[in-house]
Amino acid sequence: MKAAILAVGSELLGTDRLDTNSLRLTGLLARHGVELRRKAVIGDSEEEIAGELRALLPRVDLILVTGGLGPTADDVTREAVAAALGRRLHPDAAVLADLERRFQSLGWRMPEVNRRQAQVVDGAEVLPNARGTAPGMRLERNGCTLFLFPGVPTELEGLMETALEPWLAARSGGVARETAVLKIAGLPESVVEERIAPAYDEFGREAITILANVGEIRLQATAEGPEPERRARLQAMVSRLAELAGDAVYTTREEDTLESVVGDLLRAAGTTLTAAESCTGGLLAQRITGVAGSSDYFLGGAVTYSNELKTKLVGVPAGLIAEHGAVSEPVARAMAEGVRRALKSDWGVGITGIAGPGGGTPEKPVGTVHIAVAGPRDGEVEHRKLRLPGDRDRVRRFSAQIALEMLRRRLLAAAEPA
Ligand code: AMP
Ligand code: MG
Repeated sequence: MKAAILAVGSELLGTDRLDTNSLRLTGLLARHGVELRRKAVIGDSEEEIAGELRALLPRVDLILVTGGLGPTADDVTREAVAAALGRRLHPDAAVLADLERRFQSLGWRMPEVNRRQAQVVDGAEVLPNARGTAPGMRLERNGCTLFLFPGVPTELEGLMETALEPWLAARSGGVARETAVLKIAGLPESVVEERIAPAYDEFGREAITILANVGEIRLQATAEGPEPERRARLQAMVSRLAELAGDAVYTTREEDTLESVVGDLLRAAGTTLTAAESCTGGLLAQRITGVAGSSDYFLGGAVTYSNELKTKLVGVPAGLIAEHGAVSEPVARAMAEGVRRALKSDWGVGITGIAGPGGGTPEKPVGTVHIAVAGPRDGEVEHRKLRLPGDRDRVRRFSAQIALEMLRRRLLAAAEPA
């Protein structure tokens, strides 16, 4: 089955609002093995919407429209669909009664404009919307099915559940698509690509997708077809990809993040963490504390941005800073050990770097970052020097990511029986 999604709303063409409805719809289509051919964002123009629909009708089997079903004059999806199909609109008595009842129960008289929402395209099945005033509709035309959904995301979700999902389930006949994920930190995309190349030949290139973010790679494996073959194939892909990518894979669970995995390792070992952050300004602490229950293992930290506070709060010797500069290996090491000692944790992280855009020198260009992880015993400090690409935001985010990945590896090593 081939499908298209139309997101209607002039606000979606501006700079403040993103079309997120189509992402939800896309996810549901994918789970039912429906091939999405086209996705469009269209303003509140009857002509544009009708034109798009006319072009799509002969090309796909399913068209999902969201938005433009409101009561105001700019909501023209109903009229546009009627025009594209060459049909009329008629007032639906049951929908009107329901609308009036809805307003009455709130103690209001129904405004005249809401009558528009009781207009139904000839031949359409009305899809009741328990979460709002605009009902959805389902229409058939020469083998193509159209669904019209309200734009309000919660209302759309309600109708996806009550109307679209059952319709799709009845047609996909158990032939569905399923995706598994492997998350990798700290490796460049090209390195991951090279490592997993054999899996492309074994399972087919289209079955595996690589998505790269700052310091993070997401590998997606997709399997289609009926059960139990689908599940078996997916598991085979995940095992093979994990084997090829190696210990850089930090999880195969969608709900895990690098910080939650680090947190789980700290909790399992019964150890605690503190951090002294300079260029990341608390980004590491923010990510760690974003995980519910992180108070079990994260004691706190210090944003030691100035040289003075590096000395005052975590005991970095002033002479060390004078000799090597604040962005240096000895200072990162002293920050990690210092915060661990000052705040009495098992593990300590120190991050110092030049996020830019100013402050770079030929020896220490923008993107130079030193990260150190200290613990769990005195004097055990690991250090990495990085030359990170990108702007200030990217350098800061990358630094926090690498710090977490260093921690993860140290915690894994520490957990291994000696
Ligand atoms: P409408 O059904 O066109 O009246 O839309 C009602 C509300 O839902 C507006 O606040 C829109 O910004 C929001 N909305 C409409 N379409 C979308 C979409 N595709 N993604 C996210 N929000 C949307
Ligand atoms: Mg709208």
